[in-house]
Amino acid sequence: MRPRFLIATALAIVATATASMQQLPPGYVDPGPVIAAAAKAIGTDNLKCVTVSGTRGYTGAVGQQRFADVGVDWPRIPFTRYSRTMNWDAGTMKEEIDRKPGQNPASWKFGLGWIGGTPVQKNERQTFYVNGKFGWSHDGAGAPAVAARPEDAERWLLDLWVSNPHGFLKAARLPGANPKASWRWELGEMGRDGPTAIPERVTVVSITVLGKYQVDATINKDNIVQRIHTNVHDPAFGDTNYEHENTNTAYGSKYVDAGNGIRFPLTWHHHEGWDDNYASQYVNGGHNALDGFMDTVQANVCPDAAAVPANVQQAAFPVRVETTKLADGVYLLGGASHNSVAVEFREWIAVIEAPLDEKRNLAVIEEIVKLIPNKPIRYVVNTHQHGDHIGGLRTYMHIGATIVTHYKNYVFYNNDILNYRPRTLEPDLVSLMPPTELAEGYYWERVTENYMLTDGKRIMHISYVHPLEHVEGMLMAYLPNERIVVEADLLDTHEGLPSAPTVMNRALFNQVQRLRHDVATIVPIHGKPIPWSDFAKLF
Ligand SMILES: [Zn+2]
Ligand SMILES: [Zn+2]
Repeated sequence: MRPRFLIATALAIVATATASMQQLPPGYVDPGPVIAAAAKAIGTDNLKCVTVSGTRGYTGAVGQQRFADVGVDWPRIPFTRYSRTMNWDAGTMKEEIDRKPGQNPASWKFGLGWIGGTPVQKNERQTFYVNGKFGWSHDGAGAPAVAARPEDAERWLLDLWVSNPHGFLKAARLPGANPKASWRWELGEMGRDGPTAIPERVTVVSITVLGKYQVDATINKDNIVQRIHTNVHDPAFGDTNYEHENTNTAYGSKYVDAGNGIRFPLTWHHHEGWDDNYASQYVNGGHNALDGFMDTVQANVCPDAAAVPANVQQAAFPVRVETTKLADGVYLLGGASHNSVAVEFREWIAVIEAPLDEKRNLAVIEEIVKLIPNKPIRYVVNTHQHGDHIGGLRTYMHIGATIVTHYKNYVFYNNDILNYRPRTLEPDLVSLMPPTELAEGYYWERVTENYMLTDGKRIMHISYVHPLEHVEGMLMAYLPNERIVVEADLLDTHEGLPSAPTVMNRALFNQVQRLRHDVATIVPIHGKPIPWSDFAKLF
């Protein structure tokens, strides 16, 4: 009898263990107590709204170019004052950023990219609002409201919930959040925290925000939210790392006591793109996108939310393609902040520039095949690697075009842009129906100095524009028979000509002189074509 009794007990214990495992699989823990302890530690339930402000920090020009020799940052644009008011009950946020005018598009704060196409910032203070699904901005006090595109407004609203621990902990308890939790051992960051001998056990809580974004937060043994991470959509990168750190920043980790049990982090550190410090072979793909120290935190003084201006409520962002014939078989596809140019050859078509996003490029491609029927688009010429100029490269790859780009862009594109990585937030054609050539890799032409596309009659001379402070790996195109030069960012005409030549203008002027191009017309990617003689007057 004795042995049989022992076996029965052992079976009972196994059965109990199996039953509890069915509720919570191995590796997972109950998120409820973790969220409750984290909220209690910083007084989240007592906080309705907050205003934070500071005078030290920068915004990162996400989608521009960081150079291999200056680390992993996006170019830093310092601010002299930053302030943000967040009201979670109302679903509103207001940000003010004081920066030197002339450095940004007026409707842009940080990430993703320079896509808006609005004029350059004219006043020191830019104000950004989000109220529900609407977002808008003002360039200076009293300036008219500029509506944010719906995708930007959604990302700003997302920031209300994922840019700070209180937002995350409130979102974690909203209907539909569906929290899950796991744990891991975490080591400090190499090179910053020094050698860490004993990793710390942390809990990671994952939730759904705005019914769409998978957001996770790392919570340490003191119940403090260290890091909040999610992905957002970027037309060039697809699902893009988007994370906030409230501890371990350049300004040290510090929470301030804001009264009534409320604690708020004084440091803000925001990433767009992965931190590949120690693994990067890439020419581009930056990282730090906002960093600052907040001197003051004011809890529960909740100003009335700004009403959504009528022009913002009514704003629409249709994809418009306006065609201008520049010469026989040469067409400008305009109607947006960025142009493309189609050039007809005997058996095929070459397109210069695939900017913005897939929607834009599919509309342009449809227009091109109407203008020039029964010929394939054989080549797409990419001027440079800024995010707003490459959002359609995958689209052209998908329709079977060969990408002509400067060789310095190749590793970056091959790793970060033209890849099989799933795009979950906004799948594009390559991710939905990936062509086999993507793995085979023969759809590239890499330019070093000069490259010709020709059918024996028409010629497109593509040349490398030597290192520029704005961007490295820049190409421009010249059609000698038509005396047309097509260029991006070297001369923009959408805001008229400058009063004196810029560094970029000079680069264009010198390039044309050096290569002895006989140019009659400049066709910019930004703005309308102008006669060379108008431009030459600047020199
Ligand atoms: Zn650019
Ligand atoms: Zn540009």
